[in-house]
Amino acid sequence: MKKFYKSTRGHQEPLDFYTSILQGIADDGGLLVPDFPFEKKDLNALKDLSYVDLATEVISSFVPEDAKEDIRACAKGAYDTGAFKKGVVPVVKVGNQWIMELFQGPTAAFKDLALTMLPRFMTLSLKKKNEDREVMILAATSGDTGKAALEGFKDVPGTCIKVFYPIDGVSAIQKQQMTTTTGHNTEVIGIEGNFDDAQTAVKKAFASQELKDLCDQHHVFLSSANSINVGRLIPQIVYYFHAYLTLVKNGDIAMGDEVNFTVPSGNFGDCLAGWIAKNMGVPVHKFIVASNKNKILTDFFTTGVYDTHREFYKTNAPAMDILVSSNLERLVWFMVGKDSKKVDEFYKELNTSGVYKVDQETLETIQKEFAAGYQSEEDVLKNIKDCYDTDHYVLDTHTAVGYGVYKNYVKETGDTTPNILLSTASPYKFPESVYEALTGEKVDVFTAIDKLHELTGVEIAYPLKGIKDREILHKGVIKKDEILKTIGDRIKES
Ligand SMILES: *Cc1c(COP(=O)(O)O)cnc(C)c1O
Repeated sequence: MKKFYKSTRGHQEPLDFYTSILQGIADDGGLLVPDFPFEKKDLNALKDLSYVDLATEVISSFVPEDAKEDIRACAKGAYDTGAFKKGVVPVVKVGNQWIMELFQGPTAAFKDLALTMLPRFMTLSLKKKNEDREVMILAATSGDTGKAALEGFKDVPGTCIKVFYPIDGVSAIQKQQMTTTTGHNTEVIGIEGNFDDAQTAVKKAFASQELKDLCDQHHVFLSSANSINVGRLIPQIVYYFHAYLTLVKNGDIAMGDEVNFTVPSGNFGDCLAGWIAKNMGVPVHKFIVASNKNKILTDFFTTGVYDTHREFYKTNAPAMDILVSSNLERLVWFMVGKDSKKVDEFYKELNTSGVYKVDQETLETIQKEFAAGYQSEEDVLKNIKDCYDTDHYVLDTHTAVGYGVYKNYVKETGDTTPNILLSTASPYKFPESVYEALTGEKVDVFTAIDKLHELTGVEIAYPLKGIKDREILHKGVIKKDEILKTIGDRIKES
């Protein structure tokens, strides 16, 4: 079977896996989607595999037949080198549910699961395409993606990475994490501007003919580590299999029993990966999509209307502060029967009026598989305290959104299907909020790390240990209108 990827909007000639990875986004502005049936997996055959072997089996369904051993090498490099010190994805019982700890990796957030793989997919794709140019990864970040991408691409042969962040638009911990990054091929540059300025400039760089010509002269190739790349989506499917099979192995459920997954969501990539896992054989009853006060997804899943005319809130779960949830486009494409014309119309509508609405039938199809809810900032603090008081488990702010949404879901539906909550970050990534939730006391972030540890005894996530005293290696700050020129200079230097 030939496995091609096409655009959700239908105007891109089909691409193979490798070109999809290198290209990142479809030519017509849509997202690349697998245009082949999902392969059903035999769960019994996967049950006793290591995480690396499980990843190999699952990811192989998305790549050419002869690439399986290459994928195994990628998975070994990503997951089997000691960067996930407590196991790749521990699944722990908390109260009457299970928590999938996706934060044991090199930056203490779930993005590590995909961003340790993407660089390896990229070097593999360059090799398969006989591409000997160096890849220069550009990323604009509001925090978590930047650091995970830096750690992922750090010292990976054939690649270098430039991360642009708004100097006043990321948390103190995120800034400290990024600017202390080691590696011979990493650079972090502060922008005097906001996240949108950084994002817009980076997008312009991809479209600039001048930079393309420069790249050709200097044997360089620009690419992106953004979550629209299928190389971010595919590795995330694996942990849904892993969590399900862990419950089976522990005797918590029988093979074939259904589970629910509650997913703290922003760009919706994480949850969409779960839905793909379901289509590949993981028995799932419902996905419960959890949002913070920026509840555009909750509204979409309850009404079928995606309406961007609303205020943007900065919340204590900042990685979910988002109004344009890019991966939702992929779900909609599947839900309208892969009808690219329809999706193209929806997104034209969204671009012109800021709103689109799916029809009633599509909404009903979606609601068979997805429930949704949201939590306020106060809810988040209360959930952290409640969970600690009852079960002595420390949630981060994003996971606390999921915790509360799931509680409300059970109250409203009486659904007793076993629930697996995805924990997307270590509590030590947002320690001042977590500490405030537990004590009512406000302290600065670095003090909060130590105080939270003293109070709870929970081990400090290893990437954040001693972070305050780490040497700042990246001090560069530029004006927002200097981004393009800076990228040009870096291409010339490479
Ligand atoms: C990115 C992120 C999310 C949202 O994940 P999506 O795939 O964008 O829905 C949730 N929590 C944390 C901590 C994140 O970094």
